[in-house]
Amino acid sequence: MERATLTKDTICAIATPSGVGGIAVVRLSGDQALAIALHYMPSLSQLQERRATFSTFVVDEGLLDEVVVTYFCAPRSYTGEAMVEISCHGSLYIQQRILQALLSQGARMADPGEFTRRAFLHGRLDLSQAEAVADLIDSTNFSAHHLAVGQLRGGYSHELKELRDKFIELTSLMELELDFSDEDVEFADRAQLLALLDVLENKVTTLCNSFRLGNAIKTGMPVAIIGSPNVGKSTLLNALLQEERAIVSDIPGTTRDTIEDTINLDGIAFRFVDTAGLRKSEDTIETVGIQRSYRAAEQAQIILYVAEAELTSVALQEDINDLATHVSLQGKQFVVLRNKIDRCEAAVSSTTLPYPQLLISAKQGQGLEALRQLLVETVRCELPTSDVLVTNIRHYEALQQVKDALGRVRQGITMALTADLVLIDIREALYYLGQITGQVTTTDLLATIFSRFCIGK
Ligand code: GDP
Repeated sequence: MERATLTKDTICAIATPSGVGGIAVVRLSGDQALAIALHYMPSLSQLQERRATFSTFVVDEGLLDEVVVTYFCAPRSYTGEAMVEISCHGSLYIQQRILQALLSQGARMADPGEFTRRAFLHGRLDLSQAEAVADLIDSTNFSAHHLAVGQLRGGYSHELKELRDKFIELTSLMELELDFSDEDVEFADRAQLLALLDVLENKVTTLCNSFRLGNAIKTGMPVAIIGSPNVGKSTLLNALLQEERAIVSDIPGTTRDTIEDTINLDGIAFRFVDTAGLRKSEDTIETVGIQRSYRAAEQAQIILYVAEAELTSVALQEDINDLATHVSLQGKQFVVLRNKIDRCEAAVSSTTLPYPQLLISAKQGQGLEALRQLLVETVRCELPTSDVLVTNIRHYEALQQVKDALGRVRQGITMALTADLVLIDIREALYYLGQITGQVTTTDLLATIFSRFCIGK
């Protein structure tokens, strides 16, 4: 396995988004960063560390720009190397010309995420924190931002370190036995080993289970709007989005494919999917649409089941039962929305269903605020108090491997296998745990992770 290594060259990139802006920032990192930058700032002989300094930036043709430059001395910089950040005016020409100048002095264009990769390789942050940087940059709402900040500040790394310490404890108990294996004695108390294993399995399982929610918060909580044709699903989607996104029509079967959009409610992103109405249909296209509705419901965390307010409880229950034959409702929040109350003559009473129900009028807005609150509350209730949620599929997969290895450890201990055999699985679990924070890395793994980043980060 190839180990990830550091290159010594000096890298540069534009760190601000591509395009014209008020200002742009060009970054340099590496041994030669200061010398290369100073080459174009004839008025400065040195730069004081961590001080924004005004300077001219002069190229062969003459004065290019007036810039503000900041020098970070190694190792007290983002990457852990000498770094220079040049804030210039945000013209595309100036940005490109500065970059060209730096390259002609021996800097090289940075790869995507190379600054953060160097920060990781210099031990400025661990791998999960480096990934949190990408999540932070991607975050579009309060919750995703909150999770990314928590991970960046090391809350998650701390949890993993505790887990690792417990593993080391388990390993040393087993190794003790290994040292004396010739004497055929069992030093490690099996009950103690199993108790420790319980703690480990619980922690790993909690982390694995948190992925569903963590991922949903990061990418938007998936909410499927389901129900028979013409009950007002598209009207509801439009009302929630406050725009005409889906076609509203009296003709049943108008929504034949799923329509998706995201909104932020109280800092939580919800990804709403309006689906084709559920009914028995001979129409091929409509049938495909209905299959997609089931799939959307299957993938959702929250199902908003829309029904006519006037529908009888018996008919409603039958429809839900029918849905349940196609879609597993377990582990999902299922909400019944009885729509069109504005045109009900008599007061509609809630039926006795084992789900939360709201009386709404998607068209006139009644009950929609209560629905928004219910959605937010649903997510809030699920949030763990510890704030440690797995949001990254790579971490989730590694944790699953840890869990599997732990299962084998338990089996080994119960079957009274020798310590050396049990240790193989414990070490494997530790290996996968190490992949999350980066104690175990390969060039390939790092390449995959950092290619997700933008250039200049
Ligand atoms: P979908 O097929 O379930 O997406 O239903 P639509 O959103 O296309 O609505 C079907 C019809 O019901 C349209 O004529 C809507 O204007 C009407 N509709 C939807 N919601 C309401 C409501 O709350 N009150 C009333 N009176 N009509 C509604």
